[in-house]
Amino acid sequence: MNLTSPSHVKAWCIENGFHPNRTLGQNFLIDRNILDVIVDAAGVQPGQAVLEIGPGLGVLTEALLARGARVVAVEKDARLASRLAAALGNPPELRVIEADALELDLDTLLAEPFDACVSNLPYSVGTRILIDIALHPLTPRSITVLVQTEVAERLAAAPGCEARGQAGVWLQLDHDVSIVRAVKASCFWPRPEVGSTIVRLDRHPCGLTPDERTWFFDLTRYAFMHRRKQLGASFRKAPAPLGREDATLAALFAAAGVDTVARAEQLTQTQWQALARAYAHAP
Ligand code: SAM
Repeated sequence: MNLTSPSHVKAWCIENGFHPNRTLGQNFLIDRNILDVIVDAAGVQPGQAVLEIGPGLGVLTEALLARGARVVAVEKDARLASRLAAALGNPPELRVIEADALELDLDTLLAEPFDACVSNLPYSVGTRILIDIALHPLTPRSITVLVQTEVAERLAAAPGCEARGQAGVWLQLDHDVSIVRAVKASCFWPRPEVGSTIVRLDRHPCGLTPDERTWFFDLTRYAFMHRRKQLGASFRKAPAPLGREDATLAALFAAAGVDTVARAEQLTQTQWQALARAYAHAP
């Protein structure tokens, strides 16, 4: 079957009584150019180990294998998972795992290790899957994914942008996040209601100790839960150990070079990290 031919994909579904499942975000990529853009953006080299979440009918899997990659593909849909290897000719470089990516034992899976993760993620749980993988200590060096455009904008949002939120600040702790290109809804079947965008994440050293990282996540989680508030006012009312007396709070913010009247989305990564360090090393 030509997986970028809409008529082939539709015919396979009809012949096999397969109805794409909306809840599982089964919008299959049917555009050859976009397929090439994703694989080019991922920069996959022969012999590299690639993790793919949600292979579906295998359009991306096939393209990754064609570039010489070794692919581990994790698919939740039992019907799709069970047919994938045979449908692609049982290549020895492919291992299919039937599992929910949200319930994977990532310590074991990512120990493989992988050079890259390349996926067309399901809309509903794409951000959660991406965060789980990207924040894991054994995360691949690069991650190239198709996600909903609104999600992509949040993940890449710079300080001061309306779209800046917890997910973006968390991912940018360990990765440079860049938008590769937007993808029209007509490139998928069934056609989704929203646009998609290819995003690439490149891992960089973080510079925080494990204890400082914990503070970073606790501080940002709380701050973005109250994103309309000024940070000083927000943390004054926070439960311990985030909440402190006014004078202590002022000293912590001053040590980090952060204005207490700033709002969560305005802080740079450097400022969030400085605040995490100040909290971690406060008496
Ligand atoms: N890679 C294929 C493509 O590009 O045409 C399919 C992508 S489709 C957007 C998302 C795929 O993820 C579907 O095959 C769906 O069954 C699978 N999926 C949905 N939720 C999942 C989960 N929690 N864990 C693993 N796979 C999941």
